[in-house]
Amino acid sequence: MSRHPHLTTLFLGLALLAGCRGPSNPPPEEAISGVDLHYGGRVEFDVDAGALDADLSARLVDESATTLAFLLHGALELAAVEGEYVTGHHVEPAPNIDTWNRIAVELGEGAAGSEIRFRYRGVIPTPESRINQISPDWVELSVDTAWHPIVESFDRTLTYDLELGLPAGWTVVSPGTAVAIEDGYRMQTGIDMIDIPFAAAPNLEEASGKRETVFHRGASTETTDAILDAAAYCRAYLDERFGSDRPLPDVAFALPDRPESGYARKTFIALTSVDPDDRVGLTRFLCHELSHYWSTGAAPFTVDNWLNEGFAVFVAAQACRRRYGDESWDKTLADWERRSEGQGTIWTPNDLSRRPYEINYKKGPLALSRLEQRIGMETMDRIVTRYMTDPVDDTPTLLELIEAESDAESRAWFVSVLAESESASAD
Ligand SMILES: [Zn+2]
Repeated sequence: MSRHPHLTTLFLGLALLAGCRGPSNPPPEEAISGVDLHYGGRVEFDVDAGALDADLSARLVDESATTLAFLLHGALELAAVEGEYVTGHHVEPAPNIDTWNRIAVELGEGAAGSEIRFRYRGVIPTPESRINQISPDWVELSVDTAWHPIVESFDRTLTYDLELGLPAGWTVVSPGTAVAIEDGYRMQTGIDMIDIPFAAAPNLEEASGKRETVFHRGASTETTDAILDAAAYCRAYLDERFGSDRPLPDVAFALPDRPESGYARKTFIALTSVDPDDRVGLTRFLCHELSHYWSTGAAPFTVDNWLNEGFAVFVAAQACRRRYGDESWDKTLADWERRSEGQGTIWTPNDLSRRPYEINYKKGPLALSRLEQRIGMETMDRIVTRYMTDPVDDTPTLLELIEAESDAESRAWFVSVLAESESASAD
């Protein structure tokens, strides 16, 4: 269950189960408010050549910028960028990511509601991790390879309704639905995503729970049962706390044949190296990933990413405390303390830089556990629920929430905890 060290760790997520169950009428498109882009079009795959050929449109739902920069893998040859409001485009190497290109698209006034059409093709080299690949028996793509144009700032949400030209008889797994059509598959979601992730393969087996499905090839029943059991527990726990207005949709798990590099996108989770005997670890991992269905609003490349991760880690530990008792909680707390040693500040008004892993995943939840100790479980539960459901997307808003639910002293105290640059311990 180790995680890919690259961009995947920044994004979370997952989706409705997306098994293809033969031709059927695609479900009606679900309207979503507040989403920035809607992708449509078709991507043709040549799985023997490892190639794709895309004709994609990104509809600008409500965009006022006159230049919008997208990233796309540099191995993909861009054939055209067109649109009623597209007045030009410029391609250069992406400044921060080797092997990717940056496409700056110039837009005329009033482009909101219009589309940018991208046509591109090529072969994306399979990385050593095999986390992204196009091969005759497995296709799996996500933001890690920039297989579709993605807004450079990574702060736009998107929905999609795409056709995939893949061989007949495959199963497509993604955050949403996927159904077979005459010449491929139609994959769509109304869930607000940050990229378009999916896995697809022939001869996938399914193990289904009530609201979860594990797609695999030859995994043991012990393994799929352990996943379904942990996921069902996490769903019940999280929905009870956060799901009254927006309950967790159905969830699809894919078990790729590779040693590591799992990741999650809201209702779609790719799992590797599952140890069915490590029930606590599996529950912690799945509750963390599923809690990102709500804990996802802070901009991932900023200091506020500590909210996305810190709350997901904290809530997953609470879920394990409920299921496995104080011993698991104490162990987790000790791990957070050990891994926080020597780390810098979590957040200060003067340093809004993105923090490293240990701070977001260890020191952040440790700070939340200290807040819980100070203000009590009941008050903390109200804060966590409001953080998840309001939602709260930056640290100043969280501080206001803490003051509203407790008092100004606790807010000031928490500000000082976030600003501690030495090791922290529960107090
Ligand atoms: Zn996470």
